[in-house]
Amino acid sequence: MKNFLALAARVSIRIGNGNRTKFWKDPWCSDEPLVESFPLLFQCASDHEALVGECYSISGDSVLWTPSFQMNLFDWEVEKVLNLLTCLQNQELDYSLKDKWHWKWNSDGVFSVKSLVANLSRRGVPDFPDRQVWNPNSPTKANFLVWTMALNKCLSKENLVRRGIQVSDLSCSLCGSSAESTDHLCIHCPYSTQLWNHFLNSLKVCWVMPRSVKELLCCWQLMGLSKKKKAVWKMVPIVVVWSIWTERNTRIFSNKILSPEELIQKSVGKLISWVSVDADFRNYNVSNVFLSSS
Ligand SMILES: [Zn+2]
Repeated sequence: MKNFLALAARVSIRIGNGNRTKFWKDPWCSDEPLVESFPLLFQCASDHEALVGECYSISGDSVLWTPSFQMNLFDWEVEKVLNLLTCLQNQELDYSLKDKWHWKWNSDGVFSVKSLVANLSRRGVPDFPDRQVWNPNSPTKANFLVWTMALNKCLSKENLVRRGIQVSDLSCSLCGSSAESTDHLCIHCPYSTQLWNHFLNSLKVCWVMPRSVKELLCCWQLMGLSKKKKAVWKMVPIVVVWSIWTERNTRIFSNKILSPEELIQKSVGKLISWVSVDADFRNYNVSNVFLSSS
């Protein structure tokens, strides 16, 4: 749905006679539909499905806008109607033509897969770290976990409460000193910080942690790394998030606790086994990556 809306934003409507375009619900007057620009007036509108062509009349060479409302309007609503009319006055109609959809990424306004692909590759997908999440060498279950973390959809105590589930103790299952949110567990918890610091120190990297898992993944890039070190670097957040979440669940459901040192040891082993799936690491000791300078 989100991708559909992003795509819809690349389309505009060239109004002709207005007989194919919904007055309130289509984005013809600006980039957003009038229902979003004037939500309170929309509530008072006589016909929520009215077409643009039903909301004006022609008087000589002039267009007279006549959207209709169900009731007598209050003074403050009249003020909003004036704002709406000002917005409408700036619209140019060519009522001898039909309404036409215009694809913004092609100069002739006609949609083509080529223009879509060209623009997506040029602009990238800036709002979600897909490449970082869907690492082909890590297990799919780990990718899915990181994906839910980046979307803040995992069942942390905070998210359980959001879903209406009663949680008696909201404190973090790892440190017990803060509320258990996704971002606290994965990034800001003092217990988890030790795991991050171990990998960052091993790779000789100084790093400032951002606010959220999604932001962390979006900025998880380092220039000038060797191919092998880059593969390890890309795997670190997946291993760390996986290790933290499984440790959290083990504490809750099995009542077993690993010390930070034990979790570090376990995570390093997991990282080595996951990274070794890459053909570049065949017959290579992954531990050497942590010793190399680039
Ligand atoms: Zn904590």
